[in-house]
Amino acid sequence: MIKIIFATAYLLLSSDLVFASDVFAPKSFKGILNTPLDRVWTPDIINHLNNRSHIILIESTGTSCLQVNDAILGNLSLGDVASLEEGNATYGEALRSMFQVLDMNISSLADNEMSGVVTIHPELGSYYAIDGEMDGNLVVRDKSSLYFPEQDTTAYLVFSLDGESGDAVYIQAIARYTYNSNTESYESDPNWSPYHWLKINSNQSIGLAGDVSEATSWLIADANGLINVSVAQGGDFNPQSTTWQPNSFAAYPTNNNGETSAWNYYDSGLKTNQFYNNVDDDYQNQLGHSETASASASAVLNIIEQNLENNGLSMRYNKETYIAFRDGLLGNEFQSIDLYNSVLGERTVEHVYFTSSYDDDGEYHPFMVIATHNAPSGPQFLIDVARPPGDGTPGLSYDEQTVTRNAVLEQKLIKIPLRDYGLVTNVADNDLTDYGSLAIDQNIAESDWNVDNHTSTSSTGVAVDGVIIYPASNNVLIYASLAAEITSTGIHVGRGMGFHYHADGHGFNSNGINLYNISDYVGHSHPPIIGFVFDGIAIFGKHESDYADMDGSSDEVDEYGGHTHGDYGYHYHAYSDEVTQQAGPNSYTFQQNFLQRGAFKGLINAIPGFLNVNTNQFMDNDIKRYVGGSGTSQLSVINSHNPVVPSSYVLFQNFPNPFNPSTILHYKLPQDSYVDVTIYDMLGNIVNTLVNANQSSGYKSVQWNATNNQGEPVSAGVYLYKIQVGDFVDTRKMILLK
Ligand SMILES: [Zn+2]
Ligand SMILES: [Zn+2]
Repeated sequence: MIKIIFATAYLLLSSDLVFASDVFAPKSFKGILNTPLDRVWTPDIINHLNNRSHIILIESTGTSCLQVNDAILGNLSLGDVASLEEGNATYGEALRSMFQVLDMNISSLADNEMSGVVTIHPELGSYYAIDGEMDGNLVVRDKSSLYFPEQDTTAYLVFSLDGESGDAVYIQAIARYTYNSNTESYESDPNWSPYHWLKINSNQSIGLAGDVSEATSWLIADANGLINVSVAQGGDFNPQSTTWQPNSFAAYPTNNNGETSAWNYYDSGLKTNQFYNNVDDDYQNQLGHSETASASASAVLNIIEQNLENNGLSMRYNKETYIAFRDGLLGNEFQSIDLYNSVLGERTVEHVYFTSSYDDDGEYHPFMVIATHNAPSGPQFLIDVARPPGDGTPGLSYDEQTVTRNAVLEQKLIKIPLRDYGLVTNVADNDLTDYGSLAIDQNIAESDWNVDNHTSTSSTGVAVDGVIIYPASNNVLIYASLAAEITSTGIHVGRGMGFHYHADGHGFNSNGINLYNISDYVGHSHPPIIGFVFDGIAIFGKHESDYADMDGSSDEVDEYGGHTHGDYGYHYHAYSDEVTQQAGPNSYTFQQNFLQRGAFKGLINAIPGFLNVNTNQFMDNDIKRYVGGSGTSQLSVINSHNPVVPSSYVLFQNFPNPFNPSTILHYKLPQDSYVDVTIYDMLGNIVNTLVNANQSSGYKSVQWNATNNQGEPVSAGVYLYKIQVGDFVDTRKMILLK
């Protein structure tokens, strides 16, 4: 009942607004999974199981293919090949039909040789692998995530090809490895007989045959033809044709006792009561992802907008831009098991809330605060990166270092300024001496500072999936794509195993499973909002030639990657540009797909706590107010820092809203006035006369306890409140929940 009332009320509120700009978040990965592929596919049969190849296993008549279920774990089933070929299948069905084969020794190649036999991993679960039992079903098990010891059985099979049958091949499970918790390692299962072949049983279940004559023969198709996840040598994400480097995988981060410091998702510091209690009472209603939290965030944003106006300032973008970004962030949940401690179906971003505070000089600095696990919800193909970041051990060359092909959850507390602090006219207008910059690190003179080098040495912003963004250039000022350091999504993992984007995967391959995709453009008049930079400037998707009539398509982006058009305000776009860059003795010309170039077009000098993205901000007395630390809220429009007399009559949105059991109505009076504030129901009947008196000028508030003039509680629903002061009349809606 409550939900229905709320939905109705939401429609009523929305219909009042007229958007002069089209701002929307792209579909989350969960939404992508339900989107049809919508293009034909002709399988390219490769019939090999080379290390790192992405494959689809089609039984030899070409009708069915091996598919994992929605949980990715457990029994395998059969998918319909015709629907994949005709484009009727969803991205989810396609990805559940894709597997990656890995050499058994892939994580320790610096110490071991290639084994020549492979494990088979679901594309949506790189930490999972196929296992089976003699005479039993073939299943997917958790092989190596943080949670694998919790499984009843911990084992996996290794496979090789065994003979041909016409165009098809037989696939043999030649060994099984089971986990020994005493030695904490997988060991060969001595009971396993090597004479087992992949087979579709007569009841359509997937199992193993004890004799090759009973086995199913398979066509092994290149999955990149269906959804391209590859970074080809010589392509724009690897223009130097760097070969895949066989360094051993880096160890998981450890604490002082040498134990892994990766935590169980449910123990994340962002999910604890401690986090909740760190946040001021005034903001707690915004926490989480409920409809009530969204309504509270919207109400707080109204107050912030008014506070900015009262201080002679303005918000950088309209309210809808921040709400769309908040909705996008909170819409993400893990739909793949592609990092060590994630949990399928759980959220990647915990909280997005708005804070309202003044510095000690009375300057107003409101923020959007994002508490994120810094993890994408879809697969990221870290195994495939040609030359991922090394562990940075001093004195060791890259060849001797372990490299980061695994990722772990993090806890980031990111602040995006809401106030318009203005724009630079020259990159050097932004003073980064307190933070360091790529240029300062490289001892580059101020006269040579430019949009590629005068930028942060680490993060510059946050993407709409909650993952931080770095400059296009790495720490030695070479584009990460030229250095062959990033995956087909434009991401990689730093030394602490935390994800970050360096480039635009959509601009690179448009494969439909990136941060944003062409399907997001349908029915819109501007590309989707895909990020915010810490200078407060929004990032939108690339302008696409197929959507050349979109707003701003003909307005070139400047050297920072931004432009201004219509009512959008100055904003960045992802974009592609031909660049030439030197690496060693050679120079390379290629398409660079910029997500955020690096330098800040927004003036950052007055932004407090700039570039600070850790949860320690709650412990910093100067900064905690900007992340909404307990006891720091200056949310009210009535504040000691700004006791100015208002210049006009205003009726503000009530707070909280929706509410139960009480709410506060704010308004302001520029002069002493006779004031009437009355609550009406949706039929126009008077419910309660809250104020009917002479009042002095200033900011006023009155509480309503959801009772009528007789003092009786009223029912849940939508109510109107109306202020009348002389000729000034204004009405707003509010929602009582029960
Ligand atoms: Zn990086
Ligand atoms: Zn634009």
